Amino acid sequence: MERGINGMSLEELEALLKGLGQAPFRAKQVFHALHAEGLDSLDEVTTLPKALREVLKDYPLRTVKEVNQLLSRDGSRKFLYALEDGNTVETVYMPYPDRTTLCISSQVGCKMGCKFCASTKAAFARNLQAEEILSQVYQTERITGDRVDRIVLMGIGEPLDNYDEVVRFLRLITDPKGKNLSARAITLSTCGLVPRIYDLAEEGIPINLAISLHASSDEDRRRTMPIANRYSIQEIIRACMAYFEKTGRRISLEYVLIEGENDRPQDLDALARLFKGPMWHINLLPLNPIKEYKGRPSGEERIFAFEEALHRRGIHASIRRKRGEDIDGACGQLRILYQGMGGPS
Ligand code: SAH
Repeated sequence: MERGINGMSLEELEALLKGLGQAPFRAKQVFHALHAEGLDSLDEVTTLPKALREVLKDYPLRTVKEVNQLLSRDGSRKFLYALEDGNTVETVYMPYPDRTTLCISSQVGCKMGCKFCASTKAAFARNLQAEEILSQVYQTERITGDRVDRIVLMGIGEPLDNYDEVVRFLRLITDPKGKNLSARAITLSTCGLVPRIYDLAEEGIPINLAISLHASSDEDRRRTMPIANRYSIQEIIRACMAYFEKTGRRISLEYVLIEGENDRPQDLDALARLFKGPMWHINLLPLNPIKEYKGRPSGEERIFAFEEALHRRGIHASIRRKRGEDIDGACGQLRILYQGMGGPS
């Protein structure tokens, strides 16, 4: 797919406009309009000559369009966004009193095949382009009138399986001439594509890293997460240590508690052995049940006891606040529902 002008770096825009006989400051204006102002069209940018706006219409400006929106009792909103080709992705908007967090998607569907995850149940269609990832942020800001302060790459898809576009997205959204979001305000969640974790450590973008762990041994992990057949927990730990050394960012571990599967005393022991020290933080959260997976969420008491027991062993752990539960805030369910209703893709 051809690169949209809203997915180009300032240097790429300068090269494009130079080819069109334009001065470099025009590229700065375009970049500012697209990224600092988050516009989804150049039509209203009257500081640009009309002729130039017309010429630029020959180049794709790739944005997402709202097709559905679910509002949760807690104020979260889940957007279903359509891409140009009719595929859809989900974005979850979570306002808190002191900040707003946005959960964005990186792929249409997912290839990773985690048994408990709805995103993997609909077939994988394609990677998102950087500009389609960005547009989820800018469109949500426009629709809600709110400013996004934090971003979590925890929507549909495995971000490190779409590495180049995700890194391009990270560079664009942290660009001081654009939205200028701090890398520290961004968290990327991965099921653990070990070589890409090493790569990410070298990019010079110190974002937070979250690892979807969900099991305390390789053997258990292989039962629900196919990626565990490729990389062991020890390999993930080594990659995370390299990431921590390079970026100074602590690593969080996502641990979805599944009754009787990973909430046993032996899991506590294993986790406490593996993840001691200030570098690690375990996020506990109850499984969000989906019909394709038979596991049940651990009960509330069990979750609190699990957290307590980890604390007693000196492990940093907390229970993650659940948002948008009543709108299936998690896990690709809106996209599947929409497909079921005869929506695109
Ligand atoms: N592919 C990436 C990011 C997307 S999933 C990853 O694996 O991390 C975002 C988080 O939701 C992951 O931690 C994922 O394991 C978790 N998740 C998936 N299905 C879930 C479910 N049914 N209940 C609770 N969390 C789930």
